[in-house]
Amino acid sequence: MLTLLIVGCAVLGLAVGSFLNVVIYRVPLHQSVVKPRSFCPSCHTPIRERDNIPVLSWLLLKGKCRDCANPISKRYPLVEILCAALFGGAAARVGYRWDLPALLFFLAGLLALSYIDVEKLILPKRIVYATLFLVSASLVVAAGVNGQWHRLAVATVCAVAWFVAFFLLNFASPRYLGFGDVRLAPVLGLMLGWLGIRYVLLGFFSANLIGAIIGVSLLATKRIERSQQIPYGVFLALGAALAIYAGPELLIPFQTLHFK
Ligand SMILES: [Zn+2]
Repeated sequence: MLTLLIVGCAVLGLAVGSFLNVVIYRVPLHQSVVKPRSFCPSCHTPIRERDNIPVLSWLLLKGKCRDCANPISKRYPLVEILCAALFGGAAARVGYRWDLPALLFFLAGLLALSYIDVEKLILPKRIVYATLFLVSASLVVAAGVNGQWHRLAVATVCAVAWFVAFFLLNFASPRYLGFGDVRLAPVLGLMLGWLGIRYVLLGFFSANLIGAIIGVSLLATKRIERSQQIPYGVFLALGAALAIYAGPELLIPFQTLHFK
């Protein structure tokens, strides 16, 4: 039953989103994501078990800490809902397939990275490497179960190719492409490459198109200066998401193109 899988993944997404909130808050501060338990950022009182239910607790407490009544950021329920939607959407897209876990790890990693990139203009190494490791390990399992070693080989070549391309771009112009994006490149190449080379091209080109449109409109409305850095990692994540969720439809005109 596909509905069961979608609902299950959405609920899992709520729980994972709750963990991602901890990651988003603590990793840029170089703190552990396991210890101590979640606490209120204002008064540092540990969050009670019953106040730790994704989205629901935030609504019941009207976005305020039970102890100090200081507001709790909208980011908490927002990340949980986004993660639930991404997970449910991925389940609806691929169904009962062995590469679904890889896709979920990929989306969770990109969600945390995008949020941090927007707020702090960094893509922390710990999250990039953890995502790369979890996606690779899950894809090895998927390839093993289905005997799709050729597919894994294509994915690996795409990961290396994207890394090399960004490494050279960063070398040529470190101002426009930070090294954080170079580190992220193999993660994108691996996951989209697993889906197919067309997905890699779609992800890459739509990332730059989305980035150009948003960049130009922010410049035109004078929200940013020309010299200001933009969070390119977010556009890479958006491009990848577009390829995953809308790829099969967008790629219909290119169906006759066969890559071996
Ligand atoms: Zn508090």
